[in-house]
Amino acid sequence: MDRKVLPEEFNEARVKDLGWIDVHTHLNFLDISPEEAIRVATEQGVNRFITIGTEPQDWPVVLQLAEKYDPHVFCTLGMHPHEGKIYTTEAEEFLMKNLNHPRVVAVGEMGLDYYYDNSPREDQLKAFRAQMDLAEHF
Ligand SMILES: [Zn+2]
Repeated sequence: MDRKVLPEEFNEARVKDLGWIDVHTHLNFLDISPEEAIRVATEQGVNRFITIGTEPQDWPVVLQLAEKYDPHVFCTLGMHPHEGKIYTTEAEEFLMKNLNHPRVVAVGEMGLDYYYDNSPREDQLKAFRAQMDLAEHF
C-alpha cells in the first residue's frame, strides 16, 4: 500500500491505538490455539475478531469462542456452500434459535460455489436463499 495516500494521522502507532478488526477468521481451524492466534494478532494491533461458522458442527464451537473471548471475539452462523447438501430443517431451526445470540453479528458463511461443486447446485441455491431470508429477519 502506498503510504503517501494515507492521512498523516494514519501512522502505525495510531493504528495500534485504534485497533483493527479481522472480519473473517476461522479461529477454530488454525494450527495454533485460538488463545495464541488472538495474542499474536493483538500484538500487531488487531484486537477484535469475527470467527465464522460454516456448518452445524462448528456452530457451537464459534459460539463458545465468542462467549469465552468477549469482548474481543464475535461470531457468525451460517452454512458454507460446500455444505449446502446438509442444510436441513434442523440446521435452520438451530440458526433461527441462535442468530439472536448477543455475540452473533451476521449470517454466514454462505454463498454459491460452482467451482468445486461439493454440494449439488440446487442444494446450494436452496441453502443460500433460506439463509438470505434468515438474514433479512435478524
Ligand atoms: Zn471463511
